[in-house]
Amino acid sequence: MFDDLPGSIWLDGKIVSWKDARIHVMTHALHYASSVYEGLRAYGDKLLKAHQHYERFHQSANYLDFEIPYAIEELIEATEFLVKQGSYGQGYVRAIAWCGSKKMTVSHNGANVHVAIAVWERPVNYTESQFKNGIRMNISNWYRPDPKTAPVHSKASGLYMISSMSKRSSELLGFDDVLMLDYQGNIAEASSSNIFLVVDGKLFTPKPECFLNGITRRTCLDIARKLNINVYETTLTLDDLDRAREVFLTGTAIEILPVGSIEGNGKAWQFRPAGVTNAIYNEFRNIISKL
Ligand code: PMP
Repeated sequence: MFDDLPGSIWLDGKIVSWKDARIHVMTHALHYASSVYEGLRAYGDKLLKAHQHYERFHQSANYLDFEIPYAIEELIEATEFLVKQGSYGQGYVRAIAWCGSKKMTVSHNGANVHVAIAVWERPVNYTESQFKNGIRMNISNWYRPDPKTAPVHSKASGLYMISSMSKRSSELLGFDDVLMLDYQGNIAEASSSNIFLVVDGKLFTPKPECFLNGITRRTCLDIARKLNINVYETTLTLDDLDRAREVFLTGTAIEILPVGSIEGNGKAWQFRPAGVTNAIYNEFRNIISKL
């Protein structure tokens, strides 16, 4: 289904029809995960934080020791072109860079790098009740890795194996998303979003030491400071969930999403979106309305 949508894809500097944006089976990235991607939102024809996203795109590739052969401005221009063509309400932009078929050895030294950008309509797909009451999460059996074992700050496709497996098992058990602990057993993030806890009206979030310092995460921290909410970036354990009254997730695709419950380790914690979540959410919408 995703290989034949209406519209065009920007592929290595050219506009091609969606179904013609194909790659060969002997692509290095397919075998050895030498690829990085980025996800951005387009509201109407306006992009949210495009510069920060494409800056991270370049950094993600650098962590994997390859270069993206297009400047940030060129990537933004290409994305704006696609977005203007499509008139999306809640568009989602997927940019991806990968090592091609010139090399087929473990090392990608000397490999050719391809880049593609695609946009499609992807509304935040949670129900009214999930927004009102919060989503249901469980705790993953898989852990976020030690920063010494993987380029954890890169949006590297290879790292998403952990998220994919975790989220799939969670969905099979009827949950909406999954809480990832880090390699030390502390709270890290969700499958593809960051996590915030509200305790006594103060905002707590783990330090992004072994996972992505999300762009939406940083926006929420800025909003909280502007609203004079005390913010703490610190180590959080499952015991901290005992005192949390509100929990929410942040990410480009889901924006800001309240969590209603987390189950795991023989316990179940309940939360309810209230003052802090709502204030941050409203200010986030305000930023989008002014794009
Ligand atoms: N963590 C992971 C693993 C993610 O995939 C994402 C989504 N990019 C995030 C956090 C949130 O990052 P952002 O707010 O930049 O989308």
